[in-house]
Amino acid sequence: MKRLIYHNISVGLCLTTLGAGPAFAASPGPVPAATAPTIPAPEDRPYPGTIQLSIDARDIDRKVVRVHEVVPAEAGDLTLLYPKWLPGTHAPEGAIDRFAGLEITANGQKVAWVRDPVDVYAFHLTVPAGAAKLEVNFQYLSPVGDDFGDAEITSNMMVLEPIRLALYPAGYFVRQIMVTPDVTLPPDWQFGTALDGASGSVGHISFKTTSLETLADSPIFAGRYFSRLDLDPGAAAPVHLDIVADRPSELEIRPEALAAHRALIQQAYKLFGAHHYDHYDFLVSLSDTVPLGGLEHHRSSEDNTYSDYLTDAAKSISDWDLLPHEYTHSWNGKFRRPADLWTPNYDVPMRDSLLWVYEGQTEYWGKVLTARAGMRTKQQELDDIAFQVATYDNLPGRAWRPLQDTTSDEIINPRRPSSWRSWQRFEDYYDEGALIWLDADTLIREMSKGARSLDDFAKSFFSIDNGSFVPMTYTFDDVVKTLNAVQPYDWATFLRARLDPSGGKAPLDGLKRGGYRLVYSDTENEIVKSMDGERKRTTFTWSLGFVAANKDGEIKSVLWDSPAFKAGLTAGNQIVAVNGIPWDPDVVKETIKASAGNKDPIELIVKTTDRYKVVHLEYHGGLRYPHLERDPEAPAASLDAILEARK
Ligand SMILES: [Zn+2]
Repeated sequence: MKRLIYHNISVGLCLTTLGAGPAFAASPGPVPAATAPTIPAPEDRPYPGTIQLSIDARDIDRKVVRVHEVVPAEAGDLTLLYPKWLPGTHAPEGAIDRFAGLEITANGQKVAWVRDPVDVYAFHLTVPAGAAKLEVNFQYLSPVGDDFGDAEITSNMMVLEPIRLALYPAGYFVRQIMVTPDVTLPPDWQFGTALDGASGSVGHISFKTTSLETLADSPIFAGRYFSRLDLDPGAAAPVHLDIVADRPSELEIRPEALAAHRALIQQAYKLFGAHHYDHYDFLVSLSDTVPLGGLEHHRSSEDNTYSDYLTDAAKSISDWDLLPHEYTHSWNGKFRRPADLWTPNYDVPMRDSLLWVYEGQTEYWGKVLTARAGMRTKQQELDDIAFQVATYDNLPGRAWRPLQDTTSDEIINPRRPSSWRSWQRFEDYYDEGALIWLDADTLIREMSKGARSLDDFAKSFFSIDNGSFVPMTYTFDDVVKTLNAVQPYDWATFLRARLDPSGGKAPLDGLKRGGYRLVYSDTENEIVKSMDGERKRTTFTWSLGFVAANKDGEIKSVLWDSPAFKAGLTAGNQIVAVNGIPWDPDVVKETIKASAGNKDPIELIVKTTDRYKVVHLEYHGGLRYPHLERDPEAPAASLDAILEARK
């Protein structure tokens, strides 16, 4: 059939050419198909009635969370949405791939639904005449193993995020949709959450009716081994550590660790001068199974850290800025939120242009508060800053990609591994963003001769509406205006010069003005040592240019343009032998040290996906780890003042 049509067209063209027949009317080409059904845009009006949301989280073997919703509804068309754009991840990372078993009934009759072909998070249906509510059932299929995603449910603990456990009606701001939640947990498990009004029997808990906005922002951490510690005894706005752990022994907190966590609360109050919660809960998981990472909320935070976080601070110290970072977000990110990032519901796209404030300044205050609270010593904090600074001092991707452009990274790549991260850049608005704020802080201190600092910016930007947790949005101009009120200067040009150009040196002016300079030596950096120890790997980034697993020499990353890069190594290669000696990270260290005094290349035997190969690395610079040291040319050390506890 196709051949025949083709032949007919050929004939037609021939005739046209000969001028022996009518001109062939070529098709103008396809036109777009009819658009998909409309999804009602969110409006700021109350949703009639209250949704009942019941979460059954007892199936810890199969890691299936069963959800039952009773949704008040009127006869006619309705679109139900599953959250797609998640606050805190700033990206369309809603877990629609883990959503299953959708069944909707009204008055006992099945209601047909159809998924929107464009927005696959939307489900269209028609509520039958005479029905006043819908019964909605579905399951959330939490990852059953490492190959399926980050663990959320283990035999001893679970991380429940209501934003992944609700369908909600389109056409309303989420702050206008009221929900009454209840949760069924495995018997005898305890839990922590910022949700109010918990009541009920063991294992089955009902909470007070709240808005979907607050519910979605209020995760529940539950576990077999649980402890709750008061971080601000007697306070009108209580702050607690709610901890779940793999083993009961990991819940034991040393008095000095408790004191440091309590000092964090007081130092934050001194810095920000107000708070934006009526109570706050750090939801902490100490686990070898649930992956590291934090997620901010207004009245709580998810803080997933090492199982020995409390019991071996010397080992876990690299992650001790996690809680200060997530806590700072209650002010920066949740209360003050970029105007283009705030959305009225979870299916309107977010724009991430101001993440260098949202995440960059949070990273800055997180580290400053870690030091001020005594959660790390000053030397440990200097080592941490040295690690960050050295990363940007050696980041080839800065040559082509402006920092501003990296604010889209969560949307471009929601934290999947990438082959050449140092060339592509990744979420640099966090740490390079923090360097911009160090630059601004030291500049304000210098220009005001020590009278003012970025602390004054924090107080003026974040201390509005004490106690309120209604988000207040801001623009770039608002940031500039507040900086100018603290210290008159051309802050717009200052910020754009650090955000928009590509190429050039990393922004290290703040470090110099702070009285320090970056140096490299063969002494290990304490923070890098802690990270390597916890992650069972060794970092040779600043010498040979790679990081490798201690156990088998598998390369985890290669620095673009480094000696390892030039020798053709990539992540995923496995180092079998170094100068003929079987892989051992200590052997590599000794080999690098020895190579500083000779002219011979370092020989590696490397296993790739399909062959073994021998490569030679031309490197004679010795072992190198980053450190900060006092800069003799800089008279004052304002970085010392920045890191000192506020009185
Ligand atoms: Zn953050």
